[in-house]
Amino acid sequence: MDETTSPTLKSFIEVERTSHFPIQNLPYGVFIPPSAYVPRIGVAIGEFVLDLSVIEDHGIFADTAIAEARVFNQPSLNYFMSLGRKTWVEVRQVISNLLRHDTPTLRDNPELKRKCLFPQKDVTMVLPVEIGDYTDFYSSKEHATNVGTMFRGKENALNPNWLHLPVGYHGRASSIVVSGTPVIRPHGQIKPDGLSAPIFSESKLLDFELEMGFFIGPGNKMGEPIKIDDAYDHIFGMALVNDWSARDIQKWEYVPLGPFLGKSFATSISPWIVTLEALEPFRTAAPKQEPEPLPYLQYEDNHTFDIHLEVLLKSKNMKNYERISHSNFKYLYWSMYQQLAHHTINGCNLRTGDLLASGTISGSTPDSYGSLLELSWRGEKPISLSNGETRKFLHDYDSVILTAWCENEHYRIGFGTVEGTIFPAKNP
Ligand code: CA
Repeated sequence: MDETTSPTLKSFIEVERTSHFPIQNLPYGVFIPPSAYVPRIGVAIGEFVLDLSVIEDHGIFADTAIAEARVFNQPSLNYFMSLGRKTWVEVRQVISNLLRHDTPTLRDNPELKRKCLFPQKDVTMVLPVEIGDYTDFYSSKEHATNVGTMFRGKENALNPNWLHLPVGYHGRASSIVVSGTPVIRPHGQIKPDGLSAPIFSESKLLDFELEMGFFIGPGNKMGEPIKIDDAYDHIFGMALVNDWSARDIQKWEYVPLGPFLGKSFATSISPWIVTLEALEPFRTAAPKQEPEPLPYLQYEDNHTFDIHLEVLLKSKNMKNYERISHSNFKYLYWSMYQQLAHHTINGCNLRTGDLLASGTISGSTPDSYGSLLELSWRGEKPISLSNGETRKFLHDYDSVILTAWCENEHYRIGFGTVEGTIFPAKNP
């Protein structure tokens, strides 16, 4: 077992048992410290963030492959992500050692601690990656079946291709925002039932989508597909993704070319990227695939992760968030490795920092659906909140939080949260 995920490992920084960020996690993010202006890279540890640009200047990485480079005094993770798994593993080992309860270097240096450890509540998190391209898949069989049943009936719920390839589309990278960024209700063309022509309106059927995404480390050359056996080496880590959706705009526009303006107004991601190294103890089997996929999509070993997922909602009249759904990443029919192999099989080149998202992650029971479209079954069964309000779709000033964590008997490896609040449409 990799020492950095050992249950006996302890940090000199107090970490609560249910914290998302024990020493075994060490997710990367980009932040601005209090009374500073320039973003830099850090890792989360307990309720703190460790400023890696200061650690780097202090020579802590002197014996590693990044000794000569400035890797963490950067406004994005892209350069570090491009260096590949061997370097990621080496750097993780050094950070893990530095934070151990029995390593005095930082523990016993109050001056250095003052310079490089900040309470997370005092820093501003920014988008961790410069995302060149964003692809969104549609890999939950439960979600695809639910949506297909609503729009085409039970018999034709899954399209003929669905069980043979991970269906996806090219999304919009420019409107990906970090957790906490307001989401403005979009305008567009909608065609309410009963009307013969579309009208111009604000979206009335605004929804969230519970997703996770992974970031590309080293990319591939154009014309050279990534083999499924090599997929692992191209994945830097994972984050939470809320793929906001305007269902009424989407419904009118999506035939024949798929999602467009119903999706591209905003996509929110969590600020911390959890590495595959940290997720390793939670590796598990993906669902059995029937029919067997074509050879380029076949992979035998455990190649997904057991990640518990929750959706919480708070209206402007509520004091606290309330859980409205819980699901699991392992339910996904198509895995990250399969998505990556499929994405590049035509020779398409992926680049460092590209984001590939899973698609809405629904479970098999109604309390595990990953969107309001499914939870309220197209608005036919509004969900009830504890203060007596009901929801078919999102109202102005509703706040949505997605959260996720893996858990064993010793610790949690968490993703933190991605939060977004709906603000009223602006006058066009
Ligand atoms: Ca989606």
